[in-house]
Amino acid sequence: MSEIDENQYSQIFETVQNVQKIQEMVHKFFASNMTIGELEKELEKIIGPELAELAAITEVTRAASKREQETARLLKDKTGVEMVPIWNTNNDDLVCEVCKSKNGKPIVDNRFPPEHLGCRCWVNYELPEIG
Ligand SMILES: [Zn+2]
Repeated sequence: MSEIDENQYSQIFETVQNVQKIQEMVHKFFASNMTIGELEKELEKIIGPELAELAAITEVTRAASKREQETARLLKDKTGVEMVPIWNTNNDDLVCEVCKSKNGKPIVDNRFPPEHLGCRCWVNYELPEIG
């Protein structure tokens, strides 16, 4: 899985049709009780078995991350409150050193997950300190 580089991976977005299908499946994943394994099976039909596992993980991470950022932006627009994004890892043996070093810390460089292909990290938001 880690043998696949960014260049190879970017092939999955080569056609508009692919991009739309992948988005659709990831959306379905969030809207239903689908497991990552089931999503992978669906993605296999679109992009083939080689990239499907990596895509399932990475695109779910990307979509969740974007969704959280969007929610925080809406909240800021409506209330003026700027929530503090905190990096979270699964805290297991699969977490890479880069992500591990970010775990539990505020994101200050505007770099949100996925940090890399196969990244499973996510963001939660905390209220800013007052005063
Ligand atoms: Zn990560």
